[in-house]
Amino acid sequence: MGRITLDKVSKSFGDVQVIPPLDLTIDDGEFTVFVGPSGCGKSTLLRLIAGLEDVSSGQIRIDKQDATYVPPAKRGLAMVFQSYALYPHMSVRKNIAFPMRMAKVPAEEQNRRIEAAANALNLTDYLDRRPGQLSGGQRQRVAIGRAIVREPSAFLFDEPLSNLDAALRVGMRLEISELHERLETTMIYVTHDQVEAMTMADKIVVLQAGVIEQVGSPLELYHTPRNKFVAGFIGSPK
Ligand code: ADP
Ligand code: MG
Repeated sequence: MGRITLDKVSKSFGDVQVIPPLDLTIDDGEFTVFVGPSGCGKSTLLRLIAGLEDVSSGQIRIDKQDATYVPPAKRGLAMVFQSYALYPHMSVRKNIAFPMRMAKVPAEEQNRRIEAAANALNLTDYLDRRPGQLSGGQRQRVAIGRAIVREPSAFLFDEPLSNLDAALRVGMRLEISELHERLETTMIYVTHDQVEAMTMADKIVVLQAGVIEQVGSPLELYHTPRNKFVAGFIGSPK
């Protein structure tokens, strides 16, 4: 569960092609980072995988099934945004429960998953608070908790830490890496931050203007960057 394949996927907005046809395979359980400068198409690529945008051409497969025209809620993926997108009038518990309520998960099972997620994310003491009563890091944990309880086959993160201050960001990176080790679920993580890419990824996809410049492990990219752009962006000496 959690293998994602893009086959000649492209995306245009009107006359502007922001992603020329590209191929990409994300293996089951892998932590893949999409990295590249602002405007290079990272979010668009993630939204295509999530189904929040339709492809202009090509095919998306999730676990060997053609998912190209499957609606977002049926893809078995969970997306975590930079802006948290929490409901301010609901408690943490209700925010986390929300996707399960929509999916009509039985109440006992909802409680079991909420306890497990709260435990994993150190939120047990905050379940009855509202988002406004939490720190930025805690809010981001609630957003992640809301993704976990869906038991997705993959997590999609779009710059989830860019609203946090530098010190908090380092801690949250570690938490997300630990979560990946614990769950062993596929994670795709979008960032423009090279340090995040190098420290978190199993595999890095370097994008420039919608084109994949190179795919490889952090060490591969560092030691054998394919071109000047990758070398410059990754901070390799070559
Ligand atoms: P990134 O996440 O890497 O910063 P995006 O995927 O958000 O980049 O954007 C890639 C390009 O596509 C940008 O030029 C952006 O202006 C354009 N774009 C993104 N979404 C839309 C949209 N809904 N309509 C028109 N252009 C868009
Ligand atoms: Mg973006």
